[in-house]
Amino acid sequence: MTIRQILIHPDPRLKMVAKPVTTVTDDLCALADDMLQTMYDAPGIGLAAPQIGVLQRVIVMDCVKDPDLPPRPMALFNPEILWASDDLSTYDEGCLSIPEQYAEVDRPAEVRVRWLDRNGAQCEEHFTGLWATCVQHEIDHLNGKLFIDYLKPLKRQMITRKMVKLKRELARG
Ligand code: ZN
Repeated sequence: MTIRQILIHPDPRLKMVAKPVTTVTDDLCALADDMLQTMYDAPGIGLAAPQIGVLQRVIVMDCVKDPDLPPRPMALFNPEILWASDDLSTYDEGCLSIPEQYAEVDRPAEVRVRWLDRNGAQCEEHFTGLWATCVQHEIDHLNGKLFIDYLKPLKRQMITRKMVKLKRELARG
């Protein structure tokens, strides 16, 4: 497994729509393993393939926060939202591609999601709480959408300017 470099906003690859996976191959499972390791290393609770520059519909997540509970590393290929609740919940979201910036985003509190697992088997699950927020945030990445796109333009521009500055500093080393 390899820790991959996470793209920082603004980057054109973060604005693109990712392609569906046709077959869950060994290579794609290895990609998901790299993504999980990259996510845990960051650390974060979710990561989408476009964030490491791979434009395929693959996301990983693990929203188990309690250190006494076993981790639940999930890899979802071609995830799609089948149903979303009318009830919304607000969460102070962040993103590994927008480091150290947080803002409140409203999203459906519960969602039903379908995806292919590592064996290519179709799965369905009803997500609530942080899992529901996380899976929606990651699926947004597959559609070229970031959490800051939900914010007012002024706030979004402020965050983008900070990221441009951060990237300039990182490039200088
Ligand atoms: Zn994100």
